[in-house]
Amino acid sequence: MIENIFSGSDVSEFRFWLGWADRYVILTHMGPDGDAIGSSLALCHYLRSKGKQAYVLIPDSAPDFLTWLPGADEIKVFDRDPESSEKMVYDADVLCCLDFNVVGRIGKVAASFLYSKAKKFLLDHHPFPGANYDVTLSHPEASSTSELVFHFICAMGDFDSINKDIAQCIYTGIMTDTGALSYSSNNSNLFKVIAHLLEKGIDKDEIYRRVFHTYSESRLRLQGYVLCDKMQVFPERSTAVITLTDKELKRFKYKKGDTEGFVNMPLQIDGILLSAFFREDKEQGLIKISFRSTGTVPCNRFSSEFYNGGGHLNAAGGEFKGTLEEAVEVFNKGLEEWSHSDEDCIRQLFKK
Ligand code: 5GP
Ligand code: MN
Repeated sequence: MIENIFSGSDVSEFRFWLGWADRYVILTHMGPDGDAIGSSLALCHYLRSKGKQAYVLIPDSAPDFLTWLPGADEIKVFDRDPESSEKMVYDADVLCCLDFNVVGRIGKVAASFLYSKAKKFLLDHHPFPGANYDVTLSHPEASSTSELVFHFICAMGDFDSINKDIAQCIYTGIMTDTGALSYSSNNSNLFKVIAHLLEKGIDKDEIYRRVFHTYSESRLRLQGYVLCDKMQVFPERSTAVITLTDKELKRFKYKKGDTEGFVNMPLQIDGILLSAFFREDKEQGLIKISFRSTGTVPCNRFSSEFYNGGGHLNAAGGEFKGTLEEAVEVFNKGLEEWSHSDEDCIRQLFKK
């Protein structure tokens, strides 16, 4: 039997809101990924099936490999129309916050979010949820927020309203947040959820193809360039670092989403437990950083201690104001500091 993460009482307040609230706006994090978009669209379709007005609002645009998702063409992007986006947030009865924990993660949407009188609902799987919500459903042990949307709809008693569109959105989020079920997915219950999604008519192989096999030629060549020329490996600290400048990105006709997954690649090397990827973002005037780790190495701690970032134990990120060289310098200093730690989860990096 499938176990529901939520009980009826977890969703009772939301159920009460459904009785009077008509306008729902679903918010998710900057640089939205498959789980952010998948979970948001799934909840949006569900709320519409309940006769509600529901919209997804994202701070900045989604990568092309997600635009085929049902409903993606209707997603509102704050950057493209700030005024009407703000109005949408003010006018909402309920703001549903998906796949982020703290308000800083929604960037320019944060100001209107904080000002809005709407009920605020958090459904998320990142540790350390913030305190800005009327209802918080936070489950860091879940594979993805999309998995939580499945359980949420079931706890609302609406398993039957999960149609193929909703199932596709949910599966996309589960698949992208688990590296196609290669991590964060040692959970038989998750596979029961997936079995239900298959019964709802999804073609999981086709979803995999649409997300992971629709690269441009230049994107694949960029990957080759990164592996050959840009990945630095430091076996003495079980670490690898990749940097990409704006100039390099332009050379390979970089489009949003093109570097997705690069940070995971060095973990394929035996003995590499921590991987860091630094991407110069000239448009935003910052360095975007991604971290991945294996086992108990807490890359979210590294990100929060040295970059004021955050995330999960094995997948985290942050931003740095300054040059690429300075961002890497902070990384090296951080690791030097960590090399004096006597905590096992950190010491394992410096075994050699
Ligand atoms: P990614 O490397 O795929 O961008 O992000 C990996 C994880 O780190 C995600 O769970 C994401 O929510 C989190 N993350 C990425 N960037 C940031 C950031 O700037 N701040 C915080 N707090 N978390 C981030
Ligand atoms: Mn997620």
